[in-house]
Amino acid sequence: MTGCSQTQSSDRDVLRQQVAQALSSRRRSRVFSQPLEADYQIYSAGHKSRHAIPATVICLAIFNLGLIVDYMFRPELFWLFFFLRSVAATLPCFLLIWLSGRLPVYWLRDWMAAAGLAWIGVGVNVLITLRDAPAAQLAFSIGMLIIVTNIVFNLRTRVAVSTSTLICVVTGAFLWPRLATFEQSDVLALAFLVATSIMTLVANSRLEGTLRHLYLLIMREQMRTDAMERENVALSTISFTDALTGIANRRRFEQEFERICRMAVETGKRLALLIVDVDHFKRYNDTYGHPAGDECLKHVADVLAHQVRHDSDLTCRLGGEEFAVLMQDADEDGAYQVANRVHTALLSGWPEGLAPVTVSIGLAILPGAAPAQIMALADKALYQAKQQGRNQTVLTAQAA
Ligand code: GH3
Ligand code: MG
Ligand code: MG
Repeated sequence: MTGCSQTQSSDRDVLRQQVAQALSSRRRSRVFSQPLEADYQIYSAGHKSRHAIPATVICLAIFNLGLIVDYMFRPELFWLFFFLRSVAATLPCFLLIWLSGRLPVYWLRDWMAAAGLAWIGVGVNVLITLRDAPAAQLAFSIGMLIIVTNIVFNLRTRVAVSTSTLICVVTGAFLWPRLATFEQSDVLALAFLVATSIMTLVANSRLEGTLRHLYLLIMREQMRTDAMERENVALSTISFTDALTGIANRRRFEQEFERICRMAVETGKRLALLIVDVDHFKRYNDTYGHPAGDECLKHVADVLAHQVRHDSDLTCRLGGEEFAVLMQDADEDGAYQVANRVHTALLSGWPEGLAPVTVSIGLAILPGAAPAQIMALADKALYQAKQQGRNQTVLTAQAA
């Protein structure tokens, strides 16, 4: 909806504070503090530009219908009126309003549209003066234009006030020389013009207040939803991550294992599962202490995570000192290579002060099969590796 979705978290915090402040304030603000005001300008510009062109076309069409009246009263000047209405007044007004919707400086858009409407105001004055029509006619026509400016185009209140004042001052300047010839109906029409200006400005101001309030409510809802989505993402990341090692945990493994097994059944590709178990880890804990044991597990997890393909393989801690590596579309050679790289990596490169460990690896390679079946085979292979003296990999494979 707004620039909000693209903002950084610090900008988001500022916006959230400003939205909360503006909503808690008893007075409906007509200008927010920056950067909230800038965001509101983008939001309201989007709404306005959607209906500005249809509204302009309708209003200018009505304005050009005045040619009929021009012809009725001054047929000899028809082509001059045609040029003034349809070319000199209509074209610049349409261009200004059309361009205003494309202006990259959002706060300038209303001023540009206002210039187009004020130009029509000058046009109406010239046309009606040329037609030598009574002042009342001018007052009613200008009154209509004021309604269009303040209500139909819904310009920002400060722009609406300036534009209405300018249009009224220009009209006053055109009427001034004819002041002595005013009749009662002219005075009444002028009073109507002043009243229309004031009432439509009040309506404009209330409308802007309501729109701003609506924007604040929408922003608050959007920010709440965004925050909840971010929290959900964070929670789901936590719930699928092993707290000690930072790699995937058993929950994530089980979920992925199911999915990958199903895919392997569908595609006929082979899966490799490595169950990695630290050798004599109980002894390690007893000798070096539990904290050192924890550091050791973190190092083993790091080594495993570095030896796999990050885009398709999954490394996780199943629990205790047992890890799993799930490789998609793997052959015997590839799986063995990974296992050997793990054994080699654990021979050296241990962090300062940490005693090394070895691991036993049970490896199962199967074309698509049930997760439990693959797991049982890998477990069996691991048991064999332990039986045969540890620090080695044993493979149980099934032909594709
Ligand atoms: P084997 O070579 O047959 O696997 O022997 P092992 O001693 O590694 O196996 P065993 O299952 O007897 O012991 C596993 C040990 O792992 C026991 C337990 O205290 C330790 N352990 C499990 N989780 C953690 C942990 O989070 N941190 C630490 N430091 N130790 C753990
Ligand atoms: Mg062990
Ligand atoms: Mg174990």
